[in-house]
Amino acid sequence: MTMQSRPAEQEFVEEVTEALQNNLGEDVQFRIFDPQICGSFQRDWLAAALEGQGVDGAELDWILDQGLLRRSKAPSGEEGFILYTERMAVLAKNLWDTGRYSVDELRHIFDDWYVRVEIISTEHLAYDSFDVDDYDHFRRRAAEMIEISEHSLFGLAENNPSWTPEVLAERTRDAETKVSRWRWIHGLVSNDADAILAPSVRKLWRKQLFQLRWLDEWCRIMQIGEFETLITDGYSPEVTFYGTRWENGKTTLTNLNWSSTLDRFRETLNEGGAFPLRTPGFNVTAQGLTFTRHPSPEEYQAIFEKERLDQLFGELERRGPGYWTCDLEASGRGQCAECKAIFERTTSSRKYCSERCSSRAKSRRWREANPERARESQAKYYRENYPEE
Ligand SMILES: [Zn+2]
Repeated sequence: MTMQSRPAEQEFVEEVTEALQNNLGEDVQFRIFDPQICGSFQRDWLAAALEGQGVDGAELDWILDQGLLRRSKAPSGEEGFILYTERMAVLAKNLWDTGRYSVDELRHIFDDWYVRVEIISTEHLAYDSFDVDDYDHFRRRAAEMIEISEHSLFGLAENNPSWTPEVLAERTRDAETKVSRWRWIHGLVSNDADAILAPSVRKLWRKQLFQLRWLDEWCRIMQIGEFETLITDGYSPEVTFYGTRWENGKTTLTNLNWSSTLDRFRETLNEGGAFPLRTPGFNVTAQGLTFTRHPSPEEYQAIFEKERLDQLFGELERRGPGYWTCDLEASGRGQCAECKAIFERTTSSRKYCSERCSSRAKSRRWREANPERARESQAKYYRENYPEE
C-alpha cells in the first residue's frame, strides 16, 4: 500500500474506519497529541505505560531530569503529558543507548521534535474541543469539507500536468462527487436539531465525524513518523528530504535535499549549537566527511549515490569555508528576531529571546518549506478558530 496514490490512501482509511468502528464503536477518539486531556497523564501513568518497553522507572526519571520530555498545558490550565510522550520516552532511551549522542545533542533533537509535535497538535490541526457538542462540531466540519473539496477541484489540470485527459476527467468527476456528497450531508444536518433527525442520518453523521477525526489523526501520525524515521535512521534533525514513501507501515525518506539541510544546519550553528551534521554513514564537519567506519570502495559508491554526495560537495563549495563559523556579534543585548523584545544574550549569536520564539520561528520555516500541507492545515486552523461568520 502506498501513500502516493489517492484512491489507495482513501481505501486504507475507509478500511481502517470500518475495522475500528466494528471493534471499538463510534465514541472512540485517539487524541494522541491532544493537550486537552494531558491533565490525566502524569509521571506514574508514564511509568506504567512504559513497563515492558525497556524503560524502567529509574531510567524514566533520568530522562525527565534531563528535560527531554515536556509537560503540555491543557486549556483548563492543568499540566501533564500528551499520550504521544510514551513513544518519545522509548525513543529517548533507544537513542541514548546507541552511545552516539551527548545529553545536549539529545536535548537539541527533542527540542526540534517538540516543534513538530506543536505544529501538528496545537497550532494548526487543533483537536475538536470537549466544550462543544459533537453535533455542532460535525455541522462546522461538514461546511468545511464542502470548502475543502471545492478547493481541490481548483487548478486540478494546472497542478497535474502529467495527467492524461482520461485521468483528469476521472479525477474531476471524483472531486465533483465529493463536493456534492458533502453538500448533501451538510444539507441533512444544517437546519434541524440532532434530536429530530432520522435515525439513519444520526448514524451517518456520527460515522462521518469519526472518519474525519481518524483521518486527521492518521495524518498527524504520518507526519511525526517522518521525524521518527529521520532520527532513528541516524540523521540530524536538520536533514530534509524531497520525498517520503509509506509502504506496509514503514516510512522511507527519499532524495536528501542538501540545500535546505545546510540552510537549516546553519541556523543551528548560529544559535550556538555545536553538534555534528549526521547521516547514518558519515558526519559532515568543517574538515570534511567523517565516516562512522571506513567504507570499502563499493560501500563508498553506495553512500555517494544514496546520500547524493555530488550535491553535498557542490553546496559546500558554493557556501565556502565561512559556512562553519557562526555569525559572531558582540555579546550583550540583542533584539529577538521573532518578537523584537530586547534580551541579554547567553551566546553571542543567539537570535531569539526564548525557546517559545525560537519554536515559533522554526514552525514558520517548516510551513514555508511545506507550503501545500501547511495551506491545508492553516485553512482548517482558521476555520476552527473563527468558525461562524
Ligand atoms: Zn522573542
